[in-house]
Amino acid sequence: MLPYIKSFAREELQAQLEQWNEPAFRTDQILFWLYSRRASSWDEMTNLPKLLRDRLQSTFSLGVIELFRKLGSRDTTQKFLWRLHDHSLVESVLIPASPSLYGEQSDRHTLCLSTQVGCAYGCKFCASGLDGWKRNLEPFEIVEQVIAIERWHDRQPEEMERIDGSPKADRIINNLVIMGMGEPLANYANLLKALSILNAPWGGGIGARKITISTSGLAPQIRQLADEPFQFRLAISLHGATDEVRSRIMPVNRKYPLKELANACAYYQEKKGRMITFEYILIAGVNDQLDQIKPLSALARRLNAKVNLIPYNKVDGLEWVRPDERTQEAFLGALEDQGITATLRREKGHDIDAACGQLRLKTERELRGDVATTNT
Ligand code: SAH
Ligand code: SF4
Repeated sequence: MLPYIKSFAREELQAQLEQWNEPAFRTDQILFWLYSRRASSWDEMTNLPKLLRDRLQSTFSLGVIELFRKLGSRDTTQKFLWRLHDHSLVESVLIPASPSLYGEQSDRHTLCLSTQVGCAYGCKFCASGLDGWKRNLEPFEIVEQVIAIERWHDRQPEEMERIDGSPKADRIINNLVIMGMGEPLANYANLLKALSILNAPWGGGIGARKITISTSGLAPQIRQLADEPFQFRLAISLHGATDEVRSRIMPVNRKYPLKELANACAYYQEKKGRMITFEYILIAGVNDQLDQIKPLSALARRLNAKVNLIPYNKVDGLEWVRPDERTQEAFLGALEDQGITATLRREKGHDIDAACGQLRLKTERELRGDVATTNT
């Protein structure tokens, strides 16, 4: 199998082209076709000599991923299920900006990316870990989730005219959250390679401050990330503010208990400034009692972190449920009373299984014939 061109950095491609005695500007032409025009065939790259196109084709694979299933309408949260070359399924979720919330342009979107097929961390509430871990995504498979959605968007009929008229197609994605399937920091090297491509001006052109990496709490990799030159935002899936509660739902807490996690976060915070968010899913009777407020506030205060409360999204086959709204509001109010900056997410995409790994799980089960197909 040929190496995938979207796993390579600019310098690496440049080196290959130098070996072929091609002029330096060819590298930028190729990158333009890959990341601005989102080409899905070598033949589209019409300003490259045929000989070079043939050479590229016999050396690299374009690695275009196939859209297998899509849920949601154009102006709300949309979920994309991709089929990879080994027939693995991974998902990405496209979330429209909320102009009223952040004052952003309404044509902009946040994309939630997957980094692994399945997940080995087995959090008790999560659909991604239910069938275990299959493999890491390659850099190009992470990059291509962004490019494929931009390509899909370009091909919407009403956009064609605009795209044809402009030398460089606009982008709709200006924010990335690495909160799809998988534990991103367990696929560290491929993640960093992919994000450096998505961040580069010649690649995805998405600012590092617009990229949030979510982790279940891999303390050593958090420290490693703190030492990288990138200013990525970090989100910690906390979901419990005492070891007792957290270990009950997140096995990773036995390996890296709260004290160790907090120290790693403090190191990140120290190196990068105020860039940490705690994600806290509210699960009825598990972590929604007010006894969590004190330790949670203490942790948030120490790390200068913001708390995002997320009502739990029901997963087929799992017993957990979200608390009623009164309980959610009481939890939020109690945090605010402690002087903590907190938000309660009125989740988008609840109706299309937007939480991580759910569409893939459902589709895998349908393909196996466990349940009837309900959606297209
Ligand atoms: N593995 C990483 C990133 C992927 S999970 C992590 O755990 O942070 C992205 C977020 O979705 C995590 O905060 C995770 O805890 C949360 N999540 C998983 N299942 C969920 C569900 N059913 N409802 C709401 N949030 C969920
Ligand atoms: Fe894996 Fe994150 Fe799901 Fe835990 S919450 S099983 S780490 S994807």
